[in-house]
Amino acid sequence: MLRELDHLPEGLLDLQANRLQDRLQGPTLIHLPGRREPALLVSVLMHGNETTGWEAVRALLRPYTTGEQALPRSLFLFISNVSAAAVGLRRLDGQPDYNRIWPGCEDGGSQEHAMMRQVTQIMRDRGCFASIDVHNNTGLNPHYACVNVIDNRFLHLATMFSRTVVYFIRPCGVQSMAMAEICPSVTLECGKPGHTHGVEHARDFLDACLHLAEHPVHPVAGQDIDLFHTVAVVKVPEALSFGFGDPGMDIDFADDLEYLNFRELPRGTRLARIRGGNGLSLSVQDERGRDVAERFFVVQEDELRLRVPVMPSMLSKDKRVVRQDCLCYLMERYDDHLKDALAIPGT
Ligand SMILES: [Zn+2]
Repeated sequence: MLRELDHLPEGLLDLQANRLQDRLQGPTLIHLPGRREPALLVSVLMHGNETTGWEAVRALLRPYTTGEQALPRSLFLFISNVSAAAVGLRRLDGQPDYNRIWPGCEDGGSQEHAMMRQVTQIMRDRGCFASIDVHNNTGLNPHYACVNVIDNRFLHLATMFSRTVVYFIRPCGVQSMAMAEICPSVTLECGKPGHTHGVEHARDFLDACLHLAEHPVHPVAGQDIDLFHTVAVVKVPEALSFGFGDPGMDIDFADDLEYLNFRELPRGTRLARIRGGNGLSLSVQDERGRDVAERFFVVQEDELRLRVPVMPSMLSKDKRVVRQDCLCYLMERYDDHLKDALAIPGT
């Protein structure tokens, strides 16, 4: 199902994300030659409603389309879930989540799984300088980059985008984790879709990546990075209804929940009212898939509260996203990388 092109189709950069399906007819990998090899891989629209990546690519490539200026480095552009983008959805019903089907998970039977294996194999065969997968989220979050391994080259790449960096190893099957075996790779989270600031920030970052000659290998200075580690994912069980400031639901989350993203919350913080008898009814799993609900939450007098200090990310009031993905992730500060930084001062 993957289409491969060695040029940018005429007029492609004039199209908004919802028109790409018409023109491309499906997921498309476009190779554009530049002055340096190997190529930078940029993935956009892995989630069809997250348009900032495509908007950033439009802005990034426009100056290079006149033919006067060569790309500083070759580029592989992977324009991913264009059929979901055509209708403004993360994914279509019946489609898998395009950022959960990359090599590394156990299940892998669908044609979409095969496509991601194919893209990975192309990158392995051709070589890849770095991999950038551009996303948005639906809640109020700062811009940040995610890495899936603690490696100085990856952390440098991430801090070129933001001093806020999130390290995670679950969920599996994400693009940046599969590509981490081949080259430094990051996932960018550019805030909500449709914001000019997010587009400009992503474009500037991608342009800096195209101009980067090599990856620094020395440690990132401690003062230049806030590194967080995702320790659990929180989901609402299928069987329960939920809302935000809606007392008729089984779980009534605080109306201003998304303002808690990336805030270090104290023990006892109230997050929801749970209808009597439902108890601690959230699904909370750690990186190994173990149920850790009781480590993080407690229900007292029908109120859901934090049992320990923690920092949430990706909290969203978009019910469809909560059902399709999760309510939020829980994070802790991660300082282990600083030991290396301290061991080699001044490098
Ligand atoms: Zn996404």
